[in-house]
Amino acid sequence: MCVGAHPDDLALSIGGSILLWRKSAAVRLLTLFGRSRWCLPRYRHGVSELSRERAAEEDRWRSAARVGGAVGDLPDSICRGLSAKEEVAGRRVEPALLAAAAEAIAAFARPFRPDFTVLPLALGRHIDHIIVRDAGIASPRGLGRLVFYEDLPYAWRRPDIQRTARVIGASLPVTVNVSRVLERKLALLSLYRSQLTFAHRWKVRAHAVDIAAGRGAAERLWSARDGHKLTVNLGCD
Ligand SMILES: [Zn+2]
Repeated sequence: MCVGAHPDDLALSIGGSILLWRKSAAVRLLTLFGRSRWCLPRYRHGVSELSRERAAEEDRWRSAARVGGAVGDLPDSICRGLSAKEEVAGRRVEPALLAAAAEAIAAFARPFRPDFTVLPLALGRHIDHIIVRDAGIASPRGLGRLVFYEDLPYAWRRPDIQRTARVIGASLPVTVNVSRVLERKLALLSLYRSQLTFAHRWKVRAHAVDIAAGRGAAERLWSARDGHKLTVNLGCD
């Protein structure tokens, strides 16, 4: 099970891994903040219309990737009245919102009890990403093993990835080589027409090449511990 804050987070951050995992496992995606006001300037819509459009983009991505999932209806930071500066300013997480996120994650996981739950590291300190991460950490029952992904595009050229992972107790990096699906991952990002530009795709590619260290392209996950199960089930190097 993979959990993201916003429609496009999972496709950007671990879209390649999902395309690989779904060949041997039932992969389910949950996106929590389905009520949204963020879009590219040319897509000026009201909250309802834009939220529908973003959910539709996420649905199209899941269909194309052939994985299941759902988009929740929590209001994102802009809907809650935060500015672009405030949403990454390290504000205190509202306990009611954290509880709602934890309940939504638990309810989604309950019918199938995942072996792994993949959460954002919350690089870039976006408050919605922090809520998703901390909700999973606070209520891990029924989620299987917790593993954390590098949030793109925030992760690109970011110096504090290792430190952030260490702070939440997930200091072991494991990489998934996505060389054979990178072009497919980048092509599918064009489904997010209200959100993403060529610059996003460029950063995704650059980050994948950077962390692959000469071995094509990779996505990186962070875990509290290594083990045979992680290596085999998630296809990590
Ligand atoms: Zn996001």
